[in-house]
Amino acid sequence: MKFKPANNIQDLQYFGEFGGVNPSISDSSTYTFLSAKTMFDTFEGNADGCYLYSRHSSPSNLYLGEALAAMEGTETATVTASGMGAITPVLLQLCDTGEHIVSSRTIYGGTYAFLKNFTPRLGIETTFVDITKLDVVEAAITPKTKILYCESVSNPLLEVADIRGLAELAKKHNLKLVVDNTFSPLSISPVKLGADIVVHSLTKFINGSSDTVGGVVCGSQELIDDLRNVNDGAAMLLGSTMDSLRSASVLKNLRTLHIRMQQHSHNAAYLAEKFENDGLKTVYPGLKSHPSHELFKSMMNEKYGYGGMMTIDVGSLDKANALMELMQERNLGYLAVSLGFYKTLFSAPGSSTSSEIPEDEQEAMGLSDGLIRFSIGLDADIERTYEMMKACMLELNILEAQMV
Ligand code: PLP
Repeated sequence: MKFKPANNIQDLQYFGEFGGVNPSISDSSTYTFLSAKTMFDTFEGNADGCYLYSRHSSPSNLYLGEALAAMEGTETATVTASGMGAITPVLLQLCDTGEHIVSSRTIYGGTYAFLKNFTPRLGIETTFVDITKLDVVEAAITPKTKILYCESVSNPLLEVADIRGLAELAKKHNLKLVVDNTFSPLSISPVKLGADIVVHSLTKFINGSSDTVGGVVCGSQELIDDLRNVNDGAAMLLGSTMDSLRSASVLKNLRTLHIRMQQHSHNAAYLAEKFENDGLKTVYPGLKSHPSHELFKSMMNEKYGYGGMMTIDVGSLDKANALMELMQERNLGYLAVSLGFYKTLFSAPGSSTSSEIPEDEQEAMGLSDGLIRFSIGLDADIERTYEMMKACMLELNILEAQMV
């Protein structure tokens, strides 16, 4: 039977303590116990249903975690204060000093910086590879490797990871495959394709209103228990806990994710096709010209499309900046990092979200100066948006009149 992530979210039934249609928000950092013995058992992790302290868990955080676990098809999940607050504890939980990670080289700049600059201080080394080449990935695995890390659709180049192929490699070499699915919630369900752990920055499409940062780790009960362990759990001890008020608001937004993703995908597909026909170098996984179009198609939950992210290359940083400023002036979106908002967001990743990646490495991975990353919004009239964007490009000689 087909995996239906949005149904899984809808099928969860929570009530507030007075029968409210939303669960009550737990507004406490600490919890009372009727007996000292139960408090002791809770510390030991043996008192199901009891709460101890909200850095460990809280009812509101558990509700959101369970909804996200249902979406990703994992046993459970734990929510965190940011996407980085989900990614970093997972990597540190699974990897010890002297061990090794194989990671895609085209990942979010913050994750890249963590693996490149931070984890070596703890004796954890990472080899960055072209994740689209399974033979290159396998060649990088050593007896010390513990984790294969990738993004299902990469930031910012929109490379697509062959999750089934990577899962086979992970199994063969006894590694954990950790997939950041921030760019493709609902569209791709990595665990159904064989991944072990899924992480998200909830800051993006899942929350969808650019009013908070947040993150989640979806995985087995064993992993989540380990992360929350009071003695050596990286989530518990590093302390990147989401606040209960926030998890309640993210849960409410999650319920419209399926509608939003369809609209983001519809709008991005429309613009990508138009821009490509106009002669612009356009990257979007839904375009037949995308090198991994067929791969994405073979992995996707079709209904949600190819996502809201696309890039165009306008040739130079100056042109990219001029275009972004003009589009913002005409209210076509915001010159801002991040993604998954109702409004289109655009930025030049080479000088912003991927600036942690050294220039020579940016060049090697094909991240050029003139690249603009778009997170396409929920525009009701995408045809009008296209005409207005095209007018900006004509005005700046990015498109020439005879090309269109
Ligand atoms: N993963 C991806 C793919 C991202 O784009 C980002 C942020 O831009 C993150 C993780 C980090 O998430 P956060 O900013 O919520 O910590």
